[in-house]
Amino acid sequence: MIKTVGILGAGQLARMLAQAGLPLGLKFIFLDPAVDACAAEFGEHICAGWDDEAALTDLGQRSDVVTFDFENVPEVSASLIESLCPVYPPPRALYQSQDRLREKTMMQELGIPVAPFYPVASRPDLIAAVEKIGLPCVLKTRRFGYDGKGQAVLRFQEDLERAWQSLGDSELICEGFVPFQAECSIIAARGRDGETVYWPLTRNLHREGILAVSMAPAFDQQLQARAEVMIKSLLDHLDYTGVMALELFLMDGELLANEFAPRVHNSGHWSIDGAGTSQFENHLRAICGLPLGETHSTSYAVMFNLLGEMPAFATQQSVDQFLSQAMHWHDYHKTPREGRKIGHVTVTAESETGLEARAAQFASELGVAAELNFETILSKP
Ligand code: AMP
Repeated sequence: MIKTVGILGAGQLARMLAQAGLPLGLKFIFLDPAVDACAAEFGEHICAGWDDEAALTDLGQRSDVVTFDFENVPEVSASLIESLCPVYPPPRALYQSQDRLREKTMMQELGIPVAPFYPVASRPDLIAAVEKIGLPCVLKTRRFGYDGKGQAVLRFQEDLERAWQSLGDSELICEGFVPFQAECSIIAARGRDGETVYWPLTRNLHREGILAVSMAPAFDQQLQARAEVMIKSLLDHLDYTGVMALELFLMDGELLANEFAPRVHNSGHWSIDGAGTSQFENHLRAICGLPLGETHSTSYAVMFNLLGEMPAFATQQSVDQFLSQAMHWHDYHKTPREGRKIGHVTVTAESETGLEARAAQFASELGVAAELNFETILSKP
C-alpha cells in the first residue's frame, strides 16, 4: 500500500495535493530548491536542485510513488527517479508537453483539432510560416513558455522583425491566431487501470497571459462530450495515470486545442469547493491505485486567482460573513510579490443566478470587475 508520495516541486500545486492527501493517510516528501517553498508546511522538504543526483536518489528511495507539480522536470531527473520507484504521470507525457512542437504534432496525429502551426528556426522559416498561415499569427518559444511569456502576436508585416529580434535566440513555433469566443479547459483523471473521470468543462479568463478567473459548470453537454473525447485520446495514447488538463479555444462552436498540462491545473482549483472530488484528491487516488472519486459539480463555482498579495478584506471578514457569502479562501502562505500567485478564492452558489450576483459583488470588492469585463465571463459564449 502506498504511504509516502514524493513530489518534485513544492509550490502551491504540491501544497494543495498534500492538503488533499493528508486525510487519505498519505505522507509527503517534496524536492524543491526554494528555501521558502510553500508546500513544505505539509511534509518533509528536501531543499536541493532539480539535477541533484543524491537528493533525487533519496527522494526515489524513500517514496512509494513520485509525481511532480510542474512540467519542466529535467528528463534525466525523471529517469533517475523512475529507476527507483514508479513516476506518474508517465515521464513520456512530460517530454511531449515540454516542447510545443512535439505537443501540437502529437495532438494533430491523434486527430485533435489545433490551429495551423509550423516550426521556425530561422528568419526565412518565419517568413514562410507567416505566408502560409497569414496574419495575425502567434510566434512562441517551443520550450519554457508559461503564462503568456515567450510569445508575440504578429499582426502586421513590420511585427516579424521585432518578434524575431526578441525571440529568435530560441527554437520557435508559429501558429495561427485563434479569434476565440471563449477559452476553456477540460480536466480529467485516469487511474492505473484506465478508468477515466472528467470534471465539467471550465470557462477561463486570462489577464496579461495569466489565468484570472475560472468558472464551472459553464457549457452544455455537447461541448462537454467533445472535450472529453479530445482529452481521452491523449490520455489513452500516453497510457496516462493521474490528472491532466487540456486548454481549449472555443471558436464558432468548435473546440481547438492549445496545450495540455500533465499535472493538476490552476483552472481546476474550483473543484476543491465545487465538485464531488477535487482534482488534487483524484490525482493522488490515481497515482496511488485507489478508486477515483465522483467529479460532478456540487454547486456553481467561480474561482478568482489572487496575485501579488492577499486582499485586505480577506482577513477583515468574520467566519460568519465568509459562510453566508459562500467564499472559500485559499492562502498559499507565500511571500507577497507583484504578479505572484499567492492564493485563490472560490465563490459558490446553488443557482447560476445566485452565483452571478455573488461573484459580481466579490469581483467589485476585489477591484477586478471592470478590468476583467466580468459580465463577459458570466454570460455564456
Ligand atoms: P499559452 O502559453 O499557449 O497557454 O498562451 C497563453 C494565452 O495566450 C492563452 O491562454 C491565450 O489567451 C493566448 N493565446 C495563445 N495562443 C493563442 C492563439 N494561437 N490564438 C489566440 N490566442 C492565443
